[in-house]
Amino acid sequence: MTTAGVPVHRCDTCGNTVFPEPVWCFECGGNQWTVVEVFDGVVEESTTVLHADGDFPMATVRIDDNLAVIAAAPNGITPGTAVRLSYEDGQLRAS
Ligand SMILES: [Zn+2]
Repeated sequence: MTTAGVPVHRCDTCGNTVFPEPVWCFECGGNQWTVVEVFDGVVEESTTVLHADGDFPMATVRIDDNLAVIAAAPNGITPGTAVRLSYEDGQLRAS
């Protein structure tokens, strides 16, 4: 399977970036988008989600000034770490 980046939607009107695809732009109300695949981000904070099936380390990954995403992450990853993002089967991963 080929690895895909995060399909970030960039508003054609104001340049606002969002993920996942919204119905309209929160900034200007526009609904025309250009999809840009993003692979790089920086960990802002990390946490571990405790679940009956196991513990899932997650990270908030900053993509740009107005966009951060929540991704599955390696255990123990620390804020400030540069990560590679991928998007497969509806799941975001940072590695
Ligand atoms: Zn906009």
